[in-house]
This record gives sequence, structure tokens and C-alpha cells, in this order.
Amino acid sequence: MQNVPLLINGEFVRSSSTQFIDVTNPVNSEVIAQTPVATDAEMQQAIASAKEAFETWKKVPVTERSRLMMRYQALLKENIDEIGKILSQETGKTFADAKGDVWRGIEVVEQAINMPSLMMGETVENVARSIDTYSYVQPLGVCTGITPFNFPAMIPLWMFPMAVAAGNTFVLKPSEQDPLTPMKLAELFQQAGAPKGVLNVVHGGREQVDTLLEHPDIKAVSFVGSVPVGQYIYQTATKHMKRAQCFAGAKNHTVIMPDANKAQVINNLVGASVGAAGQRCMAISVAVFVGSSKEWVEELIPKFKEVTPGVWDDENAAFGPLISAQAKERVLNFIQSGKDQGAKCLVDGSGFELPGYEKGNWVGPTLFDGVTKDMTIYQEEIFGPVLCCMHVDTLDEALELINANEYGNGTSIFTGSGAAARKFQTEVEVGQVGINVPIPVPLPFFSFTGWKKSFYGDLHAYGKQAVRFYSETKTVTARWFEDDIPSGPNMTINLS
Ligand code: NAD
Repeated sequence: MQNVPLLINGEFVRSSSTQFIDVTNPVNSEVIAQTPVATDAEMQQAIASAKEAFETWKKVPVTERSRLMMRYQALLKENIDEIGKILSQETGKTFADAKGDVWRGIEVVEQAINMPSLMMGETVENVARSIDTYSYVQPLGVCTGITPFNFPAMIPLWMFPMAVAAGNTFVLKPSEQDPLTPMKLAELFQQAGAPKGVLNVVHGGREQVDTLLEHPDIKAVSFVGSVPVGQYIYQTATKHMKRAQCFAGAKNHTVIMPDANKAQVINNLVGASVGAAGQRCMAISVAVFVGSSKEWVEELIPKFKEVTPGVWDDENAAFGPLISAQAKERVLNFIQSGKDQGAKCLVDGSGFELPGYEKGNWVGPTLFDGVTKDMTIYQEEIFGPVLCCMHVDTLDEALELINANEYGNGTSIFTGSGAAARKFQTEVEVGQVGINVPIPVPLPFFSFTGWKKSFYGDLHAYGKQAVRFYSETKTVTARWFEDDIPSGPNMTINLS
């Protein structure tokens, strides 16, 4: 049984905690490791180590920090199969999807390599006679990240590489449900040459997170997870005068116009809704058919029946089990509520079982039609392999539906009309929009820009916004006296 270590001051250490949380393999519910709940002393040591490391790390030239990221990127690529395997075993994701999770994180490391350009300030010469103004982008200090179970590689990699390349040090608190992948990422980061204390990893739950949120030495908090926890973290972090960015839950709609390419729509809807067992914050969970495309739902039925879950190394498996028995029960309750509230369950995955893996957290692809706004399956984030189909008469009605929804993470439209696509991208009140692209997760030279209940804060993850989030701007106004400049007191606020 693996006892998950902490990373404190460059050492992987066994926690002295007496409290542990089981990490289970979702395909059979076997306990594969135990996550310690870090003691207060360990939390304090991790934060102190990050604080001390900051004093030297902030002085390391940005080019050297960038080279650390180059070495890290190479190591992540070399080890992608091993990381993918660990990730598959603790999340149940298929091997291909697990490697996709790592790959999307590697792309952020590649962005962090660009830090010398990303940290460029601004200059204006001669803002007043012989006076120049220029700005520098400087690191903040110790930053922290609290991450969810569903992308144990990508989401930690959204955070610490950008923060560290910008000159900060970091304390990561990964999900207790799948800590082995983040620990492997941390191991490779040390191997790439990260100085001790630049990255620390602690484990635990609410109490450990509170320590991070309340600690005066922590300057910025990044969080990704569910809405209630995101709201709590945003409120607590800002109450303690910290910068915070909290990415939360979602309910993503795809609009299908009658002129869309039917084959593309059907394939994209299946993959984007049930892929990764629907445990993606950008998964499509609502398909809104506009006009006469009602019969398209019929064509989804055989496609939904064709894709079946399986174990991670089965190449025919479309997706894996849910993360936990609790997550499965939650999804089954939603499916039951859909049936009870009058939605038509066209494909029902609630009874799915995989022979030989009866203890796995399986839910098969589930397709509902006739879903209405008042139903729980429409209002709540299901986070399972369930697609809800709805029908409206016009694009305006579809926009009204989406804009009235509390969430604003992602949305997409399938159409052959530029005019419809342009109207949609302009009027929809959602932060990430796909046009004939079902899951529009931006690459890391842009930022991940959820809106409304899907995000609390102002500066988003990765891209230029992350550099601003993890830094301060210092603006210098400088004059070098020349002999012929008359001196004497200036009694005004103006530069002269
Ligand atoms: P979660 O909110 O249960 O947990 C996220 C993190 O918060 C974990 O590290 C956990 O240990 C910690 N945590 C849990 N309860 C806490 C508490 N009471 N106080 C302090 N910390 C606490 O989320 P999850 O189930 O791991 O992840 C799934 C959720 O994350 C979904 O809602 C999904 O939509 C969301 N998500 C959002 C995005 C995004 O970019 N918007 C991306 C991925 C996942």
C-alpha cells in the first residue's frame, strides 16, 4: 500500500499524520494508496519553505527560470506514458484520454517557457522633459493551488509552471482522490532541477485549505473545483486580502442549427458529452436543437448504444468509470430524477456493469430527450455521461435559454451559416465559445475564460492573464538631471 508523500523543502517525506484518505482504483474500488491529511506542523513547514525559497528564486534570471521549464517540458514528454498509466489507474480514464490530460498540461509548460517575453513591461521615453516612465513585472511571492480530481495532470500544470516561471514559489494541494499523478509531476519537476522549496505539495481537505487561505505569507490562491467550494474559497481568500481565481462548475450547451452537418453533429455530441464519463468541466451536457432537427435525436440513440465504458488499457473502451462510488450514486440519482420529472430516457446507462469489474463505478452513456428548464437534470451539473436534449424554434430562443443559465463556462454552435455563428458568438453570455467545435478549451497562449457561476475572480488561468495574476507591476518614473534644467520646488502634482 502506497503512502502518498508530501513534498516539503525539496524532500519527499512521509507524513506523520494519523489520518489518511483512501485512494481507490475506480474500476474495482480497490484501495491503491492512502493520502495523508497533513498535520499543521507540516503545513507550516511547506509554507515556510516556499517563503524562504522565494527570497532566492525571485532573483534567478527569467531566462534561467525559462530553461527549468524547458527541461521540465522534455521530461514530461519523455514520461508521458508512465504518467498516463498512473493517471489511468487512479482516475479510471482510458490511456489515450489520460495522455491527453497530460498533454494539455505540457502545452501550458510550453507557454511558461515564453516567460521572458510574457513578463515584458512597458516604456515611454520623455513623458515630461527628461523624464522616462517604464514598468517591470515582478513576482508576488508564495502562491497556492487547490485542484480537483478530474484533471490531475492538466490542472496542477495550469498553475505552478506559470507561477514559478514568473518568479514565485508554490504550495500545491491536489485532490485527495487522485494524488499520485500530481506527485509524479512534482517528482519530475524536482528532477528537472527545481531548487528546494520552489514547489511544495501538501495533502488534505478543508482544514489544510483553510491554513493556506488564512496564512499571511500566501499572496495568491488558484482553485479549480465545484461551485460551493469555489465560492467558499473565493470569499475566504479575499477576506484574508489575497488575490483569488476560482474556476468552478459548469452546464455547457451546444446549439444545433438545421443547416449543420448532421454526421459531424452526431459524432461530436457523443464524444463531447460522454467522453471521460462526462467528468469534464467543458463537457457538453445540453444539446439544444433549433427548428426541425428533432429526428436527429433518434440518430443519437444507436451511437450512444455503440460506445461502451471499459478499463483503461482496453483500446475499445470509450471511457472509464466515475471517480468514486459516491460520484456514481450522485449521477444515478440525477438519472432517476430525470425519469421521475418526465424526461424521455432514450438510452439508460444506469444499470451498466462490466463483467469482472462489478465493483467499479460504472455508468453507461445516457440520453434524455424532452428535457425542460425546470427539471433538475437541466439545472444541476451532473458530471456524468449524460446528455440532455432540448428543442427550441429559433436561435434567439436558444440564446435566451443559455443566457438565463447561471453557468458560463463553455458553449458551442453547429451551423453552416456565418451569420448565425457570428450572432451566437456576439450575443451568448458564456466565456468560451466553439463554432463547429464542441469543447472549445483555448490553447495556453489564450486564457481559460469561464464566466458567471463558473468563475470567481477577474484574471483567468494561463496565457497573459495568468502572468498578471501571478505578478505585480512596478512603474518607475525616472529623471536624470541635466545641467541646463532649471531646478526649484515644484508645488504641483504635474511632472516637470
Ligand atoms: P471539489 O470542489 O470537491 O474539490 C476540489 C478541491 O477542493 C480538492 O482539492 C478538494 O480537496 C478541495 N475541497 C473540497 N471540499 C473542500 C472544502 N469544503 N473546503 C476547502 N477545500 C475543499 O471538486 P472535484 O469534485 O474534485 O472536481 C469536480 C468539479 O470541478 C466539478 O464541479 C467541475 O465542473 C469542476 N471543474 C471546473 C473546472 C473549470 O475550469 N471551471 C475545471 C475542472 C473541474
